[in-house]
Amino acid sequence: MASNWLQVGDIQTIRNLYESNSKPTRKLKYMKLEIKNNISLKDFTTYKTGGSAKFLIEVTNNEEMMQARHHARAENLEYILLGGGSNMLFADDGYDGLVILNKMDKIRYEAETVTVEGGVSIAMMVLGACKKDLGGISGMINVPGSVGGAVYGNAGIPDIWIGDILLEAVILPEDGYEPTIVKRDYFEFDYRYSILKKTKDIILSVTLNLEFKPEAETKEEIKKYSQERNAKQPIGKCCGSFFKNPEGEKPAGWLIENAGCKGMKVGDAEISEKHANFIMNTGNATTKDILDLALKAHKMVKDKFGVSLKPEVQIIPDNPFNNL
Ligand SMILES: Cc1cc2nc3c(=O)[nH]c(=O)nc-3n(C[C@H](O)[C@H](O)[C@H](O)COP(=O)(O)OP(=O)(O)OC[C@H]3O[C@@H](n4cnc5c(N)ncnc54)[C@H](O)[C@@H]3O)c2cc1C
Repeated sequence: MASNWLQVGDIQTIRNLYESNSKPTRKLKYMKLEIKNNISLKDFTTYKTGGSAKFLIEVTNNEEMMQARHHARAENLEYILLGGGSNMLFADDGYDGLVILNKMDKIRYEAETVTVEGGVSIAMMVLGACKKDLGGISGMINVPGSVGGAVYGNAGIPDIWIGDILLEAVILPEDGYEPTIVKRDYFEFDYRYSILKKTKDIILSVTLNLEFKPEAETKEEIKKYSQERNAKQPIGKCCGSFFKNPEGEKPAGWLIENAGCKGMKVGDAEISEKHANFIMNTGNATTKDILDLALKAHKMVKDKFGVSLKPEVQIIPDNPFNNL
């Protein structure tokens, strides 16, 4: 693994950047961030596929996040946020830009809220709340990944989506320079949708609404949710549901199963026998194997039911379903 220590976010560069856009200048603390080169993305995604990121920077606080983004802008690099990598499918030839890996991990529980940084894992937040007799979010226990990733796609289960309980958030706006507080309405939450899919704003932290609930009660709920999930869904390398449930139609899993796709394979990619909307990497599948299989299932569903499924997973850089 190649890696070097560079001074990023050179103050003058940033100042020029601000001034050229007639934005207020802001003194950023001098800081060193490690820029890693040519890093395999397999190690950072639950699918365990994909090539390498040209550059990767891990950030642990707001300032580092700002510096990393400024670095990308100053160097004219494409950049993308990465949380738990549980909803990402990177191309086999990698990502020709900067991956910003979010390791911001602070949590603060208050009376009936939690304020949590974007890099914190959902499960850790739920378990931490449980210990403090705070509940109302146990349904999220089996949603892998980070809080930031969850807000991006309004992740959740039928009982609860993260957007339902979000009170406010601190974002780093795509078109701004200062961390900014926004309320729930800003996000225009919908099924697996938030405005972040359009704006590319970065979630720094969010405040979520919780409720008082004795630890024992939440523990029971967590057990129930986990048992239900284990009964219905396979375990292994995947991104959860591959396709979104189409509006006004049967669920994607039903459509894929009834189009006859269960058990279909391309290389080591396989449509799960347990749940047809799960495309598993059963060994050394490539991203191409997974996408070829998904495209096959897409066509079979379209031919049989006339429904064009849309992927839930983020396919980087090119989403082959966009024009279907
Ligand atoms: C086994 C399994 C089960 C799953 N079950 C569910 C489920 O029940 N419900 C559900 O909704 N999802 C489910 N998923 C999908 C996934 O867990 C969610 O989409 C999750 O919220 C993604 O979070 P992440 O941190 O892994 O995001 P990543 O995969 O790292 O990123 C996803 C997107 O979010 C963006 N992003 C990440 N962090 C930030 C940030 N701080 N600010 C702005 N944008 C950001 C990324 O750029 C990317 O576009 C499942 C996945 C797996 C592997």
